[in-house]
Amino acid sequence: MRLVVLGPPGAGKGTQASRLAERLNIPHVATGDIFREAAGQDTEYGRKVRGVMERGELVSDGLTNELVRERLARADAAAGFVLDGYPRNVEQAVALDDLLHDQGTKIDRVIKFMVRGDDIVERLAGRRVCPVCKTVYHTVTRPPKISEICDNDGAALVRRDDDLKETTLRRLEVYGRQTRPLYEFYGDRGLLTEMDALGSDDEVFQRLLAVIGR
Ligand code: ADP
Ligand code: AMP
Repeated sequence: MRLVVLGPPGAGKGTQASRLAERLNIPHVATGDIFREAAGQDTEYGRKVRGVMERGELVSDGLTNELVRERLARADAAAGFVLDGYPRNVEQAVALDDLLHDQGTKIDRVIKFMVRGDDIVERLAGRRVCPVCKTVYHTVTRPPKISEICDNDGAALVRRDDDLKETTLRRLEVYGRQTRPLYEFYGDRGLLTEMDALGSDDEVFQRLLAVIGR
């Protein structure tokens, strides 16, 4: 199954996409994770990506499309994938269509995560990430067993640099201007399902399974 999850930053896409990918035994492909990995490298490329992310802007379409093309060409994505954070604008959506067309496949469903503005702010403000295993926590809704420590490996949890207030506002603005038009793009193609993304992780996961008929 070839799925795309769309929604504003902090909607819970990564949390659900990784769980769904595990359930369906297909990869969770998150461009944000790919770029965070790159941003950790002390190279010119790494520094450039880090700068873009810290400003809350988008990495260039050319580079992003190329990375996704390479990732989806890998054997583990042959039977399907959950794309999270990509496409982020109409140019990327067209590039995705083209690359899947070249593979003789297409997207099965695009799921829009619906949340309220207040929830986004709360979710982003409380988000904590393990720098080692990348598990995502929330200080209130998904706290680790020991405050600020990862359950899996004992590492000290961190806040994402781009979850600080100014960058968050910029990311929401970029989302509104660049990513929102994708709802019409996929709606017109009959691929879009809107899903209420409020409620507990488990409730949202059950809704997600229902959307894809599982
Ligand atoms: P996205 O990938 O859309 O940016 P995340 O999956 O990283 O969002 O979730 C953002 C934050 O909200 C994280 O701290 C996560 O633990 C928390 N979160 C995710 N889903 C829920 C939920 N259903 N209820 C409350 N908090 C949630
Ligand atoms: P995310 O983890 O999806 O919130 O993404 C974090 C950051 O990575 C974004 O703010 C962008 O700077 C960058 N990024 C992630 N996905 C894309 C994409 N599809 N196109 C361009 N930049 C991206």
